[in-house]
Amino acid sequence: MIKVYDGEVQKVLIKYKWCIMKTNHTLICDNCKHENPLFKSTCDNCSHYLRAAEVNLDLWKTIWSLFEKPTSTLRSIIFAEHKNYLVFLLVLFSIKINLINIVLNSAFLDNPFVKFSSSNLLFGSIFILVVTLILIKLITTTFNIGKKRTRFKDNLALTVYSFTPTVLAVIFLLPIEYAIFGINWFDYNPSPIIIKETTAYIFLIIELLMIVWSLFLLGRSFLIQTNSNAKAVASLVFLIAILFLSLNIIFSIYFSLLT
Ligand SMILES: [Zn+2]
Repeated sequence: MIKVYDGEVQKVLIKYKWCIMKTNHTLICDNCKHENPLFKSTCDNCSHYLRAAEVNLDLWKTIWSLFEKPTSTLRSIIFAEHKNYLVFLLVLFSIKINLINIVLNSAFLDNPFVKFSSSNLLFGSIFILVVTLILIKLITTTFNIGKKRTRFKDNLALTVYSFTPTVLAVIFLLPIEYAIFGINWFDYNPSPIIIKETTAYIFLIIELLMIVWSLFLLGRSFLIQTNSNAKAVASLVFLIAILFLSLNIIFSIYFSLLT
């Protein structure tokens, strides 16, 4: 008797889990059972309302909710009609990726060209901004192969909002890091770890944790959009690798032309 009961419970649980999975990636119409893309608020087939309309994104509430309940917050970024702060966050994202690249070059590669300077900061950030737009366009095209439908502006918003933990470091940590370590925080000459070991490690660990959390959020976003772990991981690796590779290639070309 007990065995049969357990089996029944398991069946119900599997069915329930399947429903959650299904509704996480698509919206199923109550009226006609048609499957709709996540960004739709009315059914493609019968125009029935699928969900309450979400108009705006509150910046601080969204950033906080990304820590508390990542998946539902990422979905509400897709739902929002206006992607508020998109340009502002995209600019900060570009500056931060460029800064990480400058620090990595100084700390590990000792590349004489990629140094912290106002011209490198401006040039690199504008380059990253343009390449990000192109890569998200490409990623959206690959997501939409087959039946799946996602939008460019949703994928762009998911990317820059996923990086808000890392980007916040530009606003809150960078002024403190610069006040303590000055230019040495970027050029590692000498390394900030030699200057103030414990303080440097604390800041580096915070920055690293924020980057890991951002990558997790972006992976989650791509999973929501594709419903495929393989596609999500591949897109994440593709985006990050091409951003850093292309930035270093363009810096090399730029400086070989100058000298
Ligand atoms: Zn319908």
